[in-house]
Amino acid sequence: MQNIRFNFPAPDVDPTVETLRQDVRAFLRGERRQGHFRPGTDCWCAGIDPDFSRKLGQRGWIGVTWPKRYGGQELSALHRYVITEELLVAGAPVHAHWIADRQSGPLILKCGTESMRRDILPRIAAGECFIALGLSEPGSGSDLASVKTRAEKADGGWRITGTKLWSSGAQICQYMTVLARTASSDAGGRHAGLTQFLVPLDSAGVSIRGIRDMSGVEHFNETHFDDVWVSEDAVLGAEGEGWQQVTGELALERSGPERFLSTFVALEQACGAIAGEELTDHQLATLGRLLARIRALRSMSLGVASLLQQGQSPDVEAALVKDLGTRFEQEIIERLREFWPITQGPDSDNELRALLSDSLLRQPSFTLRGGTNEVLKGIIARGLGLR
Ligand SMILES: Cc1cc2nc3c(=O)[nH]c(=O)nc-3n(C[C@H](O)[C@H](O)[C@H](O)COP(=O)(O)OP(=O)(O)OC[C@H]3O[C@@H](n4cnc5c(N)ncnc54)[C@H](O)[C@@H]3O)c2cc1C
Repeated sequence: MQNIRFNFPAPDVDPTVETLRQDVRAFLRGERRQGHFRPGTDCWCAGIDPDFSRKLGQRGWIGVTWPKRYGGQELSALHRYVITEELLVAGAPVHAHWIADRQSGPLILKCGTESMRRDILPRIAAGECFIALGLSEPGSGSDLASVKTRAEKADGGWRITGTKLWSSGAQICQYMTVLARTASSDAGGRHAGLTQFLVPLDSAGVSIRGIRDMSGVEHFNETHFDDVWVSEDAVLGAEGEGWQQVTGELALERSGPERFLSTFVALEQACGAIAGEELTDHQLATLGRLLARIRALRSMSLGVASLLQQGQSPDVEAALVKDLGTRFEQEIIERLREFWPITQGPDSDNELRALLSDSLLRQPSFTLRGGTNEVLKGIIARGLGLR
């Protein structure tokens, strides 16, 4: 086996990070007091509230690491980390802006045209522009290189035809980043000939159909592109570089606190519900184990944030965080069910029982979205030199 050491460096702690955390907490307390949101598990996927995203934008809490001339605050990856962490822990409805803040914005910053950056990034940062992720297709999920959506050069731009599946939040997004085949894979191998486009979702020929998941929420969609014309400027980065760009986004997509905190709000409620009660040794050990694992996962995830801040692309470390983190957030619900058997539905008046019941219906998706755990294990094995 190749001698590989995983790298999860402790971040440099800037005192302004803690001040920012307190500001975000105070804002969230105020929002809750005024009844502006009800805490939910999986809030970064199921909690869609454009008004809430706009409020965060007004406070300057979206796109915080981007240059000021594009609407950002020029803060560090750690500042961004504490904002996302506080929002998740509070179970706030953050899905509307999540993908644009996490990966489409950074992609536009890196690969977009200057006019795209000037036009779109400030709107994302203001919480007024949302972007969906158009990677998966019917028959093409883990094996993304097999995408069938194609784009052909035409009339000063491109014409795109195909179907994207599971596109989270597309129904409220203005744009989708679409991975399409622009050249045959015969010559350069199957990862060649793919290009990413930024497609306005109000273009003629785009239709979006909501898909209801088993929790009853329609947060993802099937999006059809029927000979959709986009301008030459819609190309993100270089033609044929789509594969490298998509894989370059993966560390951003896989390592954040949303990969282990999706059900934290239920754990916190549970701890509150038993505060002051005499706990059995088994209950204490169960809760202690869960809390200890959160600390370990948080250290690993912060380590990846530090590497991103240094300009590295720690794909293997990010895959590890996602594999361990998503199984952990599922396990929280399994352990809590031992103490609070789920006997009521998500509309229960009891907040903890409602959270547990909703989580039970949502948790199977945690180890699928953003790359399944089997696929992640393949990436980790390759990083270890095992395949
Ligand atoms: C809640 C949710 C939100 C999502 N949001 C988006 C989105 O916004 N945009 C988007 O593009 N996609 C999105 N997805 C799609 C997601 O990325 C895919 O579901 C995922 O990549 C798996 O692809 P698939 O569903 O086609 O399964 P498949 O790729 O068909 O996999 C089926 C099974 O085979 C296994 N498998 C496949 N290949 C291998 C391999 N090489 N080694 C071992 N096992 C393998 C998988 O692990 C899985 O168990 C979302 C999914 C969910 C659940």
